[in-house]
Formats: sequence, structure tokens, C-alpha cells
Amino acid sequence: MDRRQLSNRFHKPELLAPAGDLKRAKTAILYGADAVYLGGQFFSLRSRASNFTLEDIQEACVFAKEHGARIHVTCNIIPHNEDFEGLEEYLKKLEEFGVTAIIVASPSIMKLARKVAPKLEVHCSTQMSITNVETAIFMHDVFGIDRAVLARECNMEDIYDITEKCPVETEAFIHGGMCVNYSGRCTLSNRMTLRDANRGGCAQSCRWAYHLYDGKNEISNDALFTMGSKDLFTADYMYDLMNAGVSSLKIEGRMKTEYYVATIVSGYRHLIDEIYENQGPLSQERLDYHKKQILYGENREVCSGFYAGNANADSLIYHETSNADVNHDFLGTVVGIDGTHVTIETRNKFNTGETLEILSPYNTVRQFHVNSILNAKNEVIETANQPMTRVQIDIPFEVHEKDILRRSR
Ligand code: SF4
Repeated sequence: MDRRQLSNRFHKPELLAPAGDLKRAKTAILYGADAVYLGGQFFSLRSRASNFTLEDIQEACVFAKEHGARIHVTCNIIPHNEDFEGLEEYLKKLEEFGVTAIIVASPSIMKLARKVAPKLEVHCSTQMSITNVETAIFMHDVFGIDRAVLARECNMEDIYDITEKCPVETEAFIHGGMCVNYSGRCTLSNRMTLRDANRGGCAQSCRWAYHLYDGKNEISNDALFTMGSKDLFTADYMYDLMNAGVSSLKIEGRMKTEYYVATIVSGYRHLIDEIYENQGPLSQERLDYHKKQILYGENREVCSGFYAGNANADSLIYHETSNADVNHDFLGTVVGIDGTHVTIETRNKFNTGETLEILSPYNTVRQFHVNSILNAKNEVIETANQPMTRVQIDIPFEVHEKDILRRSR
């Protein structure tokens, strides 16, 4: 089929965002995520990011429901025999709280969830590396999965083909970290740090800086060697993904900051909405606008992963890189409003006299001039330079709590 022609599967998909804690879950929903995925303290990969207690998960479900959004919970460890303790009770609790889906990488957990918490949708994790139609059909027929999270290693042909022929919904990654090995099927971290990547302990050893030797001679004198992948960035493929009929578009990054979540979610939200309204691909000018907005949230180099075919050498970071590509500074979050007097919880330094921007879920990005800064004692200061303190500035337009203050470089 001609992929540029509008297909009968074209629709507005779910935008699925990551959250490492309750604050980021709420931010993702406010900035436009249709659903948020998070990890509990057990049974989840990225265990260092997974600091949701059962109470947190319950609160996230309540907040999501109030805002018409959904919560997915990762139960995606590759479990050994001793890892099942408490799992049954945990799944029952998730169902009771109103969690929509669990993301699972183990047939045994899929089987158990179906038995003890049948209202939970079961989404087959990317850890199961679904790259073809037959596997997706098998997972549906045998384990009754509701959704296949496709492997990041699928190209666009695979995504069209599986989504058309698979009896369940598909979900595809659109942004964030990539494994240099096969979607986390990697024991590098286990071997280097004794931390099991497939039980939530990946130390991202692929991104470390290594001295590289050719026999006895070091050949990495000028720049240490890394083998991590650049981050995935798919604005150029958004129309294709929507036209293929993919049900959910997933952003990676449960360890990322609130600023990253707000900016990336907001960027893709606007891009998806505009493609849907347009019922077709955007002009290059509009696409470039959205790409710039999304990349305000990114501080690593980016690539298109496997969507254009096999990821090639350009998708890897061979040497330590700086943050030279960063095009923004996250300066703080709005935490109080009294007319035009706005209280900011600071993150990075800014000065009187600068032109800054407000990113908000309720408006387009707006700029203003900082005329003065007051510290917590109501004293005029030239520079706000203490992170995580509160200062007051005047902003000449309406802002909301959780709006983000940033500087464009
Ligand atoms: S070490 Fe790198 S490739 Fe391996 S699981 Fe961790 S992030 Fe993925």
C-alpha cells in the first residue's frame, strides 16, 4: 500500500507517558498524556525509578480518572522462582485501584494475572521482542494478551504489517532511551555490576566511558569510548505510525525529570493533534516547528532508531559527548500565583533583565521579560541562584501551577 495515502486504520492513538513518581505522573497527565505507565516497588524493571508505593498507585489512579486518563503498571521482570512472593496480592490490589493494564514480560505472570485479576488488561512488554505477526497472534491465542508492545527493533514495514494482521492492539515507542542490545535482553549490567538488568537493576553499563585498547595500545586517548545508543526521536514518523493504526505511542523515560516529561509529552500531544486535525502529513514548516518544541526537552543526541531500517552506526554514541545540543535551561516551576506575582520553585540560575519562557499545558509557549526578582524575605535580588528555593517574579499573562519556567538558548 502507498503509506502516504490515508488508510482506514488512521486514528488518534493513545499518548502513553512515563512517570518515576506521583508528581511526574500528574505532570504527564496535565501536559496531555492519555495514559501513564509507572512501576511499583516490586516486580518492575527500572526498580531505581519505581518508587510508587501502593498508596501512590492508588492516588495516581484517582487523579487519572478525574482527568479522563489511564494508569498502566509495569510488572515486567523476568522472574525467578523466588520472585513470585506477594505477586498475587499485588495484582489484586492493582485491579481494585482501577489500574487499566499491566505490562508483562513473563508468560507465568500473564497466566497468573488472567486468573486472579481478570479486569486488568495484559500488555505484552517490549522485553518479549515482538517483531512479527505470528508471535503477536501466538501471544494472543495462548496467553490472551490485550496489547502487543512492539520491539523497538521493528521497522515501519513491520509495524504496518503487524498492526494490520495482529488480533490485538499494538503499541510502539516514539521517544527516549534505546538499548544497544535487544530491548533489554542484555546481561552487561549483570556482569559489570552484579545488578540484574532483567530484574530491574540495569546500571546502563553500555553508556559508561571505557578505555579502548588495540592489543596493548590504548586507542581512546582523546575521547573515551561508549557504546550507548542515541535516544529515539520519531516526529518524522508520526503520521506513518498513526496511519498504520498503532493504538498507543509510548515515550520512554521513567528516570527522567519532570521537565522532560512535561516538554516531551506536550510536544508530541500537539504534533499528534495537528496531524489528526489535518487528516494527513504536515507541511515541512509545521513539522519542523513541532520537532523544535519536542527537542526542547531532550538533552541527548537523537536518532530514528530502526524505523527507517536497520539502525546504523550513526545511531550510536561512540565517544563521550557534552550537552552541546541542549537548547534550553529548565529554571523552575510555578508553585503559587497572586495576580501577576508568581512564585517559582527554582532549579537553575536566572537573572533580572533576561527574556524567559513559560511552558504550560493550557497555552502555547509565551515569552516575557524579568523586571525584578524577590527572594523569600521579600528582598530584591539580581539573580536567583539557589536551587529548590522560592522566589517571586512578575509575569504579565495568566499562568497556572505546574507551568514551567525555562530559558531558550
Ligand atoms: S546495559 Fe545498556 S543495553 Fe544493556 S540493558 Fe542496560 S541500557 Fe540496555
